[in-house]
Amino acid sequence: MPDSHLPFTGFGTLAVHGGHEADPNYAHLTPIYAGSTYVFDEAEQGMRRFSGEEKGYIYSRWGNPNTSEAEEKISALEGFGLMGADNSPLALRTILHASGMAAISTLLLGNLKAGDKILTHFSLYGGTHDLLETVLPAMGIEPIILDLRDLHAAARAMEADPAIKMLYLETPANPTLQCVDIEELTLLAKRYNMIVAVDNTFATPYLQQPFRHGVDYVVHSTTKFLNGHGTAIGGSLTGKDIDLMNGHITKVHRLLGGSSNPFDAYLLTLGMKTLEVRMERHCHNAMEVAGFLEQHPAVSKVNYLGLPSHPDHNTALKQMRHPGAMLSFEMHGGLEAGKQFIDRLKLCVRAVSLGTCDTLISHPASMTHFSVPREKRLRYGITDGLIRMSVGIEHVQDILMDLDRSLSNASTTTS
Ligand SMILES: *Cc1c(COP(=O)(O)O)cnc(C)c1O
Repeated sequence: MPDSHLPFTGFGTLAVHGGHEADPNYAHLTPIYAGSTYVFDEAEQGMRRFSGEEKGYIYSRWGNPNTSEAEEKISALEGFGLMGADNSPLALRTILHASGMAAISTLLLGNLKAGDKILTHFSLYGGTHDLLETVLPAMGIEPIILDLRDLHAAARAMEADPAIKMLYLETPANPTLQCVDIEELTLLAKRYNMIVAVDNTFATPYLQQPFRHGVDYVVHSTTKFLNGHGTAIGGSLTGKDIDLMNGHITKVHRLLGGSSNPFDAYLLTLGMKTLEVRMERHCHNAMEVAGFLEQHPAVSKVNYLGLPSHPDHNTALKQMRHPGAMLSFEMHGGLEAGKQFIDRLKLCVRAVSLGTCDTLISHPASMTHFSVPREKRLRYGITDGLIRMSVGIEHVQDILMDLDRSLSNASTTTS
């Protein structure tokens, strides 16, 4: 049986084997532990488990073998090849959550209190933005929202306000693909003793490892590329202060109750085994698609981090292995052209979300941002004809053919 504690040299090996514990019944894969509670041999043993003296499960909201395996795998991948302060491999602890938003909630509520402020970039996942703007202020926690690509502005803001406790980054950001410089911003924030957290959902640890740059926390919506197949909602919170993670943060996680479940954790573990091969293919396909769209007469603009025309191309190259699988583009002809294009697709899937094997395409102006007033939407860069694509792992010629046919005039299609 492979020993998952060996010092593996390859990311792909850790993705396959990391976090696995041998099953007492010799099952190859960890079976789904679909039970809510765990048995004690005797009262004494119950005491030892509750006190933490003996390792073992108690109650599934607190954890179970399936969530543990996914957690250990994420820690292994986020820490791959990184060294800690004492020159031993960087130790990380991950807590799996019911969703990305649950993980972000534990992060924020576990670290901030009334009177604290949180400094962040203006392009963020919509849910995170709303949590910061509409839920946390009622608890006395205020966001400061800036363009953090401007390092001088970031430095001035940090200098000016000692109430800022946390720097919260998302890079590349959803949906604009803006990138912020993790290394430079973390250096600045650490001068003021701030906690630094990064949402690494769009990149995954295969493309980007924020802990390399000294951050304190990484969060994921595991719903996306980590799961990779669109089979479960989930989130993770990974931290490098092991005592804090095992102590206060674990407590906050358990009490807020946003726990994952054995089935979703099992699906996530399976999905992560192929992370490296999927990301290689996703990114390769995305580059081909971006190049194709750039040449297409129906397309006025392509936003892809792999293209030198993207304003954050250099930041992406600096901190990411490849420029990812997300892109967006604008069509001549605005809203109507966007809707017609979407309706003609035969292979690419019309859906929101991202990071699945299947190519997903959405039209923000008629879908995710339909209810946002046009003026506001345009300010965020979401124009009428903007199309967002999560490029999948299909044979790239098939993706290109579907796009080409759908971009051409309605009169030339057979549908
Ligand atoms: C989807 C997403 C989230 C929220 O995750 P859920 O799993 O839907 O709760 C957070 N951050 C980013 C960047 C996302 O794409």
